[in-house]
Amino acid sequence: FGGVVKEPPMHIVHISVEMAPIAKVGGLGDVVTSLSRAVQDMNHHVDIILPKYDCLKLNNDIIHCHDWSSAPVAWLYKEHYRHYGLNKARVVFTIHNLEFGASLIGKAMQYSDKATTVSPTYSQEVSGNPVIASHLYKFHGILNGIDQDIWDPYNDKFIPLSYTSENVVEGKRAAKEALQQRLGLKKADLPLVGIITRLTHQKGIHLIKHSIWHTLERSGQVVLLGSAPDPRIQNDFVNLANQLHSSHNDRARLCLTYDEPLSHLIYAGADFILVPSIFEPCGLTQLIAMRYGSIAVVRKTGGLYDTVFDVDHDKERAQACGLEPNGFNFDGADAAGVDYALNRAITAWYEGREWFNSLCKRVMEQDWSWNRPALDYLELYRAARKC
Ligand code: ADP
Repeated sequence: FGGVVKEPPMHIVHISVEMAPIAKVGGLGDVVTSLSRAVQDMNHHVDIILPKYDCLKLNNDIIHCHDWSSAPVAWLYKEHYRHYGLNKARVVFTIHNLEFGASLIGKAMQYSDKATTVSPTYSQEVSGNPVIASHLYKFHGILNGIDQDIWDPYNDKFIPLSYTSENVVEGKRAAKEALQQRLGLKKADLPLVGIITRLTHQKGIHLIKHSIWHTLERSGQVVLLGSAPDPRIQNDFVNLANQLHSSHNDRARLCLTYDEPLSHLIYAGADFILVPSIFEPCGLTQLIAMRYGSIAVVRKTGGLYDTVFDVDHDKERAQACGLEPNGFNFDGADAAGVDYALNRAITAWYEGREWFNSLCKRVMEQDWSWNRPALDYLELYRAARKC
């Protein structure tokens, strides 16, 4: 027992009416403060919850709620807390997906000072919905961003070679080989389509299945990482996996689970990330794909429409956003639609590798971080303060 055993930190929450020097009547205030400091100095986490006394100025800290699950905070605050001195805060409410909990979302919309959803196109798509329609004057679409530190091919412990846009070809080649090796696919230079998704109706299940077969017909490889909350859909994909793993064992792999490290290797190792959603409020997979120099192939809906600009059709629309075209997209929700985008993408890979590589470099250099959207949110918070 010579060494010191390191104890994992505990998290202690004190609930007290006194805390020196902010609110002190007697010894209780001293004890809560000094005990907390001492315990904190021993590397544990301490929070202290106090009543909101008049001397505590909370004039500026906006309450921002997200989706149905925190919707009640909007009206609890406005109906109850506001009358007890917490009257300066403003409520902002963000809809990430209107498919869930629309009645709670509707009530939160009424009580919010400002409301947003996660892309301009989705904000238009839902603007006729009864829970939104009467609140359009305070409703805005602000795109999501991605965390540049979590998703960073230069500093990612799950991929074999660090890369930036300068060595994207080498970096992606190493990642593709590692991915093929890990999943037991043939180590060959073939176009590789990656799909990383929850397997639900929203994500375009029939288009995903069709695209898997179509990519194989075009002699490509496919890796799907996804899991289905609905056991019937999960079963369906287990059957498809069995079928594909016997007919195309060297070119198709379905990983029907949730696996964060594997997702990083797919984003890096794939040439294309396919997102054929039926609706998509913003979508992050296409943004992460671009960060890793993979080319997004998406259906034109919601945030996918706002972030993926077709190399053949969207030059002007991209330039209006200060960007160059960065991917392939399609209308419709049938096989012909997705084939149209996928065929052009795969053909470009086979017939124009140099151009294709320059496209990978270009998409890596586009900025899909929070830098810009955070400024939009700050502007919205400032406007909310004036409500
Ligand atoms: P949604 O929130 O509707 O699921 P988004 O595109 O906004 O779709 O976000 C999906 C996120 O979840 C991305 O970070 C993606 O990489 C991750 N993801 C989805 N499915 C899986 C999976 N099976 N394993 C690991 N990560 C996954």
